[in-house]
Amino acid sequence: MCYFEQTRWTCGYWKWGNFRQQCPKEYRTGETCGLKLVYTTSYKSENCKLCEQIEKKNRRLEKLQRDVERWRQEGNRPATIEKTERDIEEIAERVNQLWEDHIGRQASIS
Ligand SMILES: [Zn+2]
Repeated sequence: MCYFEQTRWTCGYWKWGNFRQQCPKEYRTGETCGLKLVYTTSYKSENCKLCEQIEKKNRRLEKLQRDVERWRQEGNRPATIEKTERDIEEIAERVNQLWEDHIGRQASIS
């Protein structure tokens, strides 16, 4: 068991930080035994980078969806609509992946 710093964000996301202290079981200098324990936790008063990315992408999605709606009403630019809808799908998929990463990370620690 080796001790590491940990950072936690308000949204529940966390990550390991610097290595702090070696456990008695590990004799190789500078090596860690692979089992990480929390040495100290620093709390951030904000959401994590993942959340930021998700928010940014969601705002972009909303904008693109509004654009498509407007173009439909105007009845022109079918090619642009088609292209934008593909973009929307791609971004939505990416947002799902980000969420899965995020939920997985929140679930793996109590
Ligand atoms: Zn987050």
